Amino acid sequence: MKKYSAPITMFIIFETIAIVLWRTLDNLFYLCNFTYIGGFIALGLTLYIRRFKYARQIVQLGVGLYMLCYLGLMCRENMQIEGFWYYLFLGVFEAAVIHYVVAKIFCPLIFGRGWCGYACWTAMILDFLPYKEPDKPRLKIGFIRYILFGISLAFVAGLFLLKVKNVEEIMFISFIAGNALYYAVGIAMAFVLKDNRAFCKYVCPITVFLKPASYYSLLRVKVDKDKCISCGKCRRVCPMNVDMTDNSRKRLNGTECILCMKCIDECPVDALKL
Ligand code: SF4
Ligand code: SF4
Ligand code: SF4
Repeated sequence: MKKYSAPITMFIIFETIAIVLWRTLDNLFYLCNFTYIGGFIALGLTLYIRRFKYARQIVQLGVGLYMLCYLGLMCRENMQIEGFWYYLFLGVFEAAVIHYVVAKIFCPLIFGRGWCGYACWTAMILDFLPYKEPDKPRLKIGFIRYILFGISLAFVAGLFLLKVKNVEEIMFISFIAGNALYYAVGIAMAFVLKDNRAFCKYVCPITVFLKPASYYSLLRVKVDKDKCISCGKCRRVCPMNVDMTDNSRKRLNGTECILCMKCIDECPVDALKL
């Protein structure tokens, strides 16, 4: 049973969030929503423990497709960053705001960038592309994310300041257009830079929320220096160019780890663990 303590703990955390939000906001949706997500994450961890190769992808598809298709397209909830600003300005504690507060601001304190490895519907597609291991050092163009972050804020603030009508409809169209653009740019960047996660590294504005909290993440990959033989394999296979052989919080690209476990799986002497 101890072997499965991680999936059980994860399910209990999500179920606690589900019950607290359900009872506090008197809305059954939150019970179903967080139970579904927690259930998928627990399933993925169980499959990972049982050494199933595609455990992470199953979680990513299960959670990502649910958010994109059900919440985004069917319920017309803009779960992109514009949706967060929109509901925040409206003063409505709706799904998009709760989603950002839980998944993008507080959860990274525990799970770091786990969102990016197990739930994001953009990366769910990017991870199927052929360039899983970047063969070049990172470019210094990460400033793009801050520009996009500012543009998304200015776009929604502009709609409110100009008192534009049919904002609800505009937000739905921007959700579809924004996602289409993200996929197009993400796929193009992956092929041009030969790096599936190039979009995540340089462009995605959501990382402006994710990175600061994930610096303090409870869950992080650590190396046992006594076991490590400095073969460098872990750094070569890391999709996010993290230096996980440095245990300090200031490790290179430390706030980029998506907890994909690739480095842990590939270490020949079992020197890495969470
Ligand atoms: S960086 Fe952005 S696009 Fe990439 S996985 Fe994270 S949230 Fe998704
Ligand atoms: S390979 Fe290791 S350090 Fe790199 S993102 Fe995956 S878990 Fe994090
Ligand atoms: S793969 Fe393992 S042994 Fe090789 S450098 Fe990384 S931690 Fe050390």
